[in-house]
Amino acid sequence: MTMHKNFIAGEWTGADAIENRNPSDTNDVVGLYARGTPEDMKAAIAAAKAAFPAWSRSGILERHAILRKASDEIMARKDELAALLAREEGKVLPEALGETVRAGQIFDFFAGECLRLAGEVLPSARPNIGVEITREPIGPVGLITPWNFPIAIPAWKIAPALCYGNTVVFKPAELVPGCAWAIVDILDRAGLPKGVINLVMGKGSVIGQAMLDSPDLAGISFTGSVGTGKRIAVASVEHGRKYQLEMGGKNPFVVLDDADLDVAVNAAVNSSFFSTGQRCTASSRLIVTEGIHDRFVSAVTERLHALKVDNALKTGTDIGPVVDERQLAQDMDYIEIGRKEGANLAFGGERLNRETPGFYLQPALFTEVDNQMRIAREEIFGPVATVIRVKDYEEALSVANDTPFGLSSGIATTSLKQATHFRRNAEAGMVMVNLPTAGVDFHVPFGGRKASSFGSREQGRYAAEFFTVVKTQYTLA
Ligand code: ADP
Repeated sequence: MTMHKNFIAGEWTGADAIENRNPSDTNDVVGLYARGTPEDMKAAIAAAKAAFPAWSRSGILERHAILRKASDEIMARKDELAALLAREEGKVLPEALGETVRAGQIFDFFAGECLRLAGEVLPSARPNIGVEITREPIGPVGLITPWNFPIAIPAWKIAPALCYGNTVVFKPAELVPGCAWAIVDILDRAGLPKGVINLVMGKGSVIGQAMLDSPDLAGISFTGSVGTGKRIAVASVEHGRKYQLEMGGKNPFVVLDDADLDVAVNAAVNSSFFSTGQRCTASSRLIVTEGIHDRFVSAVTERLHALKVDNALKTGTDIGPVVDERQLAQDMDYIEIGRKEGANLAFGGERLNRETPGFYLQPALFTEVDNQMRIAREEIFGPVATVIRVKDYEEALSVANDTPFGLSSGIATTSLKQATHFRRNAEAGMVMVNLPTAGVDFHVPFGGRKASSFGSREQGRYAAEFFTVVKTQYTLA
């Protein structure tokens, strides 16, 4: 079996390997991937530091051409890359394909942005002086990514980092090194100079920690859990570097009496259970007003009966497996906690056996949930949703906002007045009207409030806020 090595200073290196296993079929080894050491991390950071002066001054056509080539190759190989993604992470093929295309679109978008780098020219408050405001790259940056979007999240951090002239040390999640390796291989062959991108795979607690402890990075962009995000914040303050954190969610989806039932049910089922509920934008709190509650619950339950939970690579599968044993145990624990808290398990929640041995879980729907229960407050990160019954719109909005998180927030209603009020008053980074809380565009800002996010937004032109630093220049005419 081919060994996929780390990529440091333009060389593929590393001997020690970890098996990457398929969660839909644990007998299937996707490949062998390097287990990096703290020394590898140090070497990668040194390489990114050494490559920074030249790359930060590289021409915009060079950057444009490399990002464009990467996009073209991702698009040309989209079926193969989607199959790899589905195999290593367990996302069903159509979703994996959508995510892969999105990664291609992100590289394409930032290829274009290389040609649109701009500043501002202003007159000074004083006579005969000109003021120019420009943006410069921040330096070598560390990118730490989670397992749930193995190709899109790396793309949305790597593409802007390179576009704006930064060099990169990339540490993907240990469960999904395959897509990470593929992106770095594509960028290398697209012509990135040595040291501009470095890949160190392995354990977060070892090499991720080594990244946090380095004084040589100008910034760290992270997506993952709240706990790791806090460690990154503390270490970054100590080292005086920028940091950007995308963490959890406990996203509400409000359903009002006047909602179109089909629209509400489609959006709720998609939000809560697609991608096995393993999206930080997943909706795990369905907040439903009394008049539609029973019809909504029975329509959602009917849809859940029809969903096929099976091998992610099999045609017709709607919901793939949970990503690994540890996450499955966490999901099952929360289902038990919900039962003990007195919620009613209206559907699912059992482990399933399929033709291939994997981490299959029947999507679970709890009803009669109180917003103060742990299953309504803590992020489960699995196919587990709660239904919270409320009296009216005012109570729905208050329950929706009563959460430590604030990533995405949705509402199903046909009332323009209430939709508008909700858009203005939802305490979240993203608000969806008659749409799932998950499923976002690649060219507009992504991010949240409260415990969900810290720092400037990712994606679209807003990515420049993190990956550049502003300089104000005064010149006597
Ligand atoms: P999850 O629960 O989704 O796995 P984590 O925060 O543990 O969330 O993981 C997200 C990313 O953070 C992964 O790439 C992981 O390897 C990395 N990571 C985990 N622990 C640390 C750490 N102590 N320092 C830096 N990175 C870490």
